[in-house]
Formats: sequence, structure tokens, C-alpha cells
Amino acid sequence: MNKKIRLLQSIHFKIAIVFVLLLLVTLEVIGASFVKQLEYQNVRDFKQSLQVTPYIQNQLSNELLNNNGNANKNIKEIIGDMGNSAEIQVVDNKGTIRGVTNLNNQSTVGQKTRNPRVKQVIYSGHTEQEVAYNERLGSYYTAIQPLTNPSGDSNTVVGAVYIRASMEDVYKGISSITVIFLTSSLVAGLLGMALSIVISRAITRPIDEMKKQAIQMARGDYSGQVKIYGQDELGQLAIAVNNLSVRVEEAQEASESERRRLDSVLSHMTDGVIATDRRGNITIINETGQDFLNVTRDELLGQSLLKVLRISDEYSLRDLLETQQEMVLDFSEQQDHDLILHVDFSLIQKETGYITGLVCVLHDVTEQQKNEQEQREFVSNVSHELRTPLTSVRSYIEALNDGAWQDPELAPNFLKVTQEETDRMIRMINDLLSLSRMDQGTAKMNLEYVNLNEFFGYVLDRFDMMIKRDQEHEDELPKLTTSTGKLPTDDPNKKYSITRDFTKRDLWVEIDTDKFMQVIDNIMNNAIKYSPDGGVITCRLLETHRHVILSISDQGLGIPRKDLGKIFDRFYRVDKARSRKQGGTGLGLAISKEVIEAHRGRVWVDSQEGKGSTFYISLPYEPIDADGGDWDAI
Ligand code: ADP
Repeated sequence: MNKKIRLLQSIHFKIAIVFVLLLLVTLEVIGASFVKQLEYQNVRDFKQSLQVTPYIQNQLSNELLNNNGNANKNIKEIIGDMGNSAEIQVVDNKGTIRGVTNLNNQSTVGQKTRNPRVKQVIYSGHTEQEVAYNERLGSYYTAIQPLTNPSGDSNTVVGAVYIRASMEDVYKGISSITVIFLTSSLVAGLLGMALSIVISRAITRPIDEMKKQAIQMARGDYSGQVKIYGQDELGQLAIAVNNLSVRVEEAQEASESERRRLDSVLSHMTDGVIATDRRGNITIINETGQDFLNVTRDELLGQSLLKVLRISDEYSLRDLLETQQEMVLDFSEQQDHDLILHVDFSLIQKETGYITGLVCVLHDVTEQQKNEQEQREFVSNVSHELRTPLTSVRSYIEALNDGAWQDPELAPNFLKVTQEETDRMIRMINDLLSLSRMDQGTAKMNLEYVNLNEFFGYVLDRFDMMIKRDQEHEDELPKLTTSTGKLPTDDPNKKYSITRDFTKRDLWVEIDTDKFMQVIDNIMNNAIKYSPDGGVITCRLLETHRHVILSISDQGLGIPRKDLGKIFDRFYRVDKARSRKQGGTGLGLAISKEVIEAHRGRVWVDSQEGKGSTFYISLPYEPIDADGGDWDAI
């Protein structure tokens, strides 16, 4: 059904129909006028052939005028000689039939005519003709001509000639010609139709192919080419379609590769990008954007940007379109970590200035904000840390200045405290400098392969020596300081011991010995500092598959759980007052952490409040087979 309708609507069908109709209309018009003309001429010729010539009229008039005994005979001869198939009657002006051609009607001669029309013609003197029809004769023609006196007054009617002839032959001829014409029209119509189908097919085939190619192109398949049948308009159209197909394919490829490039740019961007339509609903979002918002693309598409950014209470879409105000938004709630985003808006505009949407770029500034915050805290910490010793130094100097310098008991004591505070400040500044070098990456690492067992042992030997000396020469010798410059303990009488639990295997690792020693010193100093009197400090050294682990455990007061994560932060101290009293700067563990991380290692602490703490250092380690066993195995 559908196909049928399509056929009826097709150009192919329409051209064929128009062609055939044109042919038929032309043929019919020509045929109708031809047949009409033929009929007219044939009827005219027929009538002319039946007309009584003036000569015969005269002869008949004379016979009627003379009216001698032979008149009727002569009349019969004259009308018999007229030689046509018509039935002729001659009537005189009294209405008497004087001669007939029809042999069967010879008996009517001498009788009065009963034809009123004949009488009428005799009376009026005008010729009368008629084409009529009856069952017996079919179509027939009658003509009644008056006969006038040839020598006298022409108005004197002497009689009339009645002629009647069948027209069937004339009409038969015309209708047979009409039949021939109709038949040939039909044949011409059929031939025309066949021809028009062939012609219209020739026209529509290229059109059909172009249509198919256009449908293929619409589906995105540009592989086909339309066949070119000639150089006419359709051929040129086919060439144009082929060119168009190539151009569209090129344009499509260009825009596709552009889209892919944009896609890959968007998906590899570390910034989140969101595009909206002019109503502010999201149309595009890249992966980073989804990660930032912690929502899938499907959930975001079509959503209002204002709602997604949770700024619909403060801003309207108009605000964003008009001012494109930058903002910093906190998305930490949506994530399980801190996330602060800098949000930047720009308009998508057509050349006419018509705004079609917004582009919003989300830039992760968490680290930056954190750094800025840390920096602010650091500056405030440094200022605070330096102000305390400086204030105390100033007050001692003021006291000395006010006269205490003369007091032999107070003066040396005041000067000692001043010196201690100044030393602490210098230590702090040195610590800060080494931290700053680490931060900037300018701290040079003098790496060398060291047998860690020997090295750790050597560092601990120094602490053992200190213990020994302290015990042997109590108060006689000046206190030994370690590489950190800190005094190991505030209580010179405090007793403690160091035990070692080292692996037997030599552990060769690459370290900067000075810096590493500083780390161990720092942790050991802390361990001693926070150990109770008589406490044992256990130092262990062991290796795992890929690491060496060095640990220092004390039996001290431990570190509260809440502080465990913070003690490696700069200036962080569990008990600030106590640390300061012991000359601590709060930077020791921070430096240790930086140093160990510069060795690609890790430092952490495990502690139980009241029971003690254990500090761990792990360093990457690759076992070296000292016997060259690997070579033997080959
Ligand atoms: P400080 O100069 O104060 O010792 P550190 O960075 O070396 O600074 O240590 C930071 C803080 O960690 C100390 O103030 C102290 O509160 C805590 N701490 C360090 N080591 C120990 C330990 N072995 N036992 C208990 N607390 C410790």
C-alpha cells in the first residue's frame, strides 16, 4: 500500500502520466477537428452532388410548361439520366406528381402529392432542405427545389423537384474514419506510455541514485559515488552531489577530529570544565569536573549549574551572565577530603553577541590555599617562637642594665640564661634554614653506601659514651651535646640505658651520613628527654624484603593519640612549655621527616600514653649478595 502511494507520488509516474495525457489531449483535439472537418466536407459534397443543375431545371421547367403528351415520359428520362442513387420526384405547380425515379412508385405519377413541404416550396418558391432520420432509411437528406419559368418571370414557379437520398454511406465513412483514428490514438497512447516510462526512467534514475546517496550521506556513510550518465543538467547535478559528498566527508572528519581533540583536551585537563545552555543547564562536563563534584555525568547533564555548584541562594543566572564573577567554593563536604575550587565563568557568544551559554572552569586550589594557610601559620609561629626568647633576653638585659650587672650572684646567672636563649634562637634559625633548604630543594645530599649496622652502632656508641662520662665525672666535665645541639636531658642525674637489637646481616644503604646522624640524634635525644629515670631505650635494626627498618623505643610518657599525626609538623609540641624549657625548637621531627623523605624513606611513630613511644624509620633497601652468589648461580 505504502509502496503504491509512493509510486503514484513519484516523479517517474508523474512524468509518464503527463506525457501520455499530453499525447492523448493533442491527438484528441487534432482528431476531433479533423473528423469534424471531414464530416462537414463530405456532407457538403454529398449535398452538392444531389443538386439539380440549372440545365436540368430548365429542361424540367420546359417540359412542365409545354405539357404535351410526352412530357411525363420526357421528365422520367431526364430524372433517370441524373444518374444518382437518390429518389427524385417532379411535381408541377398544381401538386401533381409528374415523374418519379423509384420504379415501385410509378403508379403515383399523375396523383396529387401529399407532401405538404412540396406544396410549401411551390407556394413560396424557396428551396428547402433537411437532414432527417427514420428507422427504415436511417439518416437521409431531402431537398425540394422550385422549378421556375426559364423564359418568363423568374418568380413564376412551374413545379418542384423533390430529392431524397440516404446519408448512411456518408456517415458510415466518417465513423469508420473515426474508429481508425481512435484505434490509432489508443495505439499511440500505449506506445507513448511505454516511451514515456522509458524516458522518465532515464530522467529519474540518476535522481533516484542521488536521492539514495543523499540518504546515505545523512546516515553518515560517504563511501558511495553517484554514477554520471551524461553532461546534461542531471550529470552536472550528479557531479555536484559527488563533490558535496567529498566536502561533507572532509568537513565531517575535520569537525570529528576537532571534537576528539577537544574531548581529549577536556578529559586530560586537570581543571574541571562545565558548559551550559543559555538556561544554565549543564550540557558538557569533563571527567575532572565530575570528580570534583563527585557526581556521575548522567546525573549532572541537564541539571542547573547554580544548583550543582550550590550557589543558587546567593547568585542568579543573570548575575553570572552579567558579571562572570570569579569565586572560591569549598567542596570538602561532597568529598572525603579537603577540596577548595576556584570557579571562573565565561560566556559562550555568537558573533551577533547572542549568548548561547556559559563555560565554567573549576580549578583545584586546595593545595594553594593550604600552603597559603600554612605559610601564614608558619610566619606567625616563627614570630611567636622568636618573640618569647627575645622578650626574655630583653628583660634580663634590662635587669642587668638596671644595676643587676653589679650583683656578683645574679649577673653570671642572668648572662647564662641570656646566652642559653640566644643559643636556642640560633639553633632555631639554623633549623629553619635547613628546613628552608629542604623545601627549596637546595639541600645537597652527599649520598654514600654505608653499612647501617655499623653506622647506627657508631651513633649509639656516642650516646653510651655520654652516659659513661656523665656517670664517671658527674659535674666535673661540661655536658656533651649531640649533633642537634640539644642537651640530651634536662635532669643531669637521670639514669637511662640503651639496648641494641640488630640484625646479624650487614645492611648496605645509601645515605647522607651527616643528615642521617642528625635524625637519629634527634630521635635519641627525644627518647632520652622523655624517658623516666632508669628507663631503657631499645634500638632495633631489621630488614624486610625491600626495606630496612630502624626503630627507637622509649619507656617515657608517650604521646596522646590525638597528637600522633601532628608531632612531625613544624613547631608542633605536645607540651610547649616543657619543650622550650629543654631548649627544644619544635622543629627537630619536622627536619627529620624532610631528611628521611629526601632518602625516599618514611618516618612514623607508634605510642601508648604513659607506656612509651617507638619511632620508626624505613629506608628503601636492595639486598646485595656479598659472596657474589648470584654469579655462582648462573
Ligand atoms: P622538640 O624540640 O620540642 O623536641 P621535636 O620536633 O623533636 O621538637 O618533637 C616534637 C614534639 O613531639 C615534642 O615537643 C614532644 O611533645 C613530642 N615528642 C617527641 N619525641 C617524643 C618521645 N620520645 N616521647 C614523647 N613525646 C615526644
